[in-house]
Order: sequence, then C-alpha cells, then structure tokens
Amino acid sequence: MSTTTEVECPGCHAVGKLVLISPDYEGPYACWKCHSVYNIIIKGGQVTSFVPTTREEVDRKRTLDKPSSMPD
Ligand SMILES: [Zn+2]
Repeated sequence: MSTTTEVECPGCHAVGKLVLISPDYEGPYACWKCHSVYNIIIKGGQVTSFVPTTREEVDRKRTLDKPSSMPD
C-alpha cells in the first residue's frame, strides 16, 4: 500500500506529490518547479517540518547513513 501526500514548496508554493509507503516520512524532498531541496518530516500524511538543504548534503547523508537492515 502506498499513500500520496501533497507537499507545498515553501519557496515557490508549487504543490508536488510524494508517493510514500507509510504516512510518516522523514527525508529529502526536491521541488519540481524551483528545484529547491528540503529535508521534510511528514506525520500522518501532513508535512510538519521543512528544513532547507542542498542536493550535496542529501548525497553526503545517503553515503553516511547505511541502514543495517531494510524496513518492510
Ligand atoms: Zn519550489
């Protein structure tokens, strides 16, 4: 089951759709319109936090955070 969450970019207010496997999400979101990158937190299908970041930072974190086990 996946859930589609609408995410409004705080920079340009373009609404993008994020398809998630759970209603909670924490991770990068890139705006399709202005290409800003944010670390967002979604709880219960609602975006609760937007933290501006960069694509470089996201890539760096991805290399550091190697999950030891895959979630279901
Ligand atoms: Zn934007």
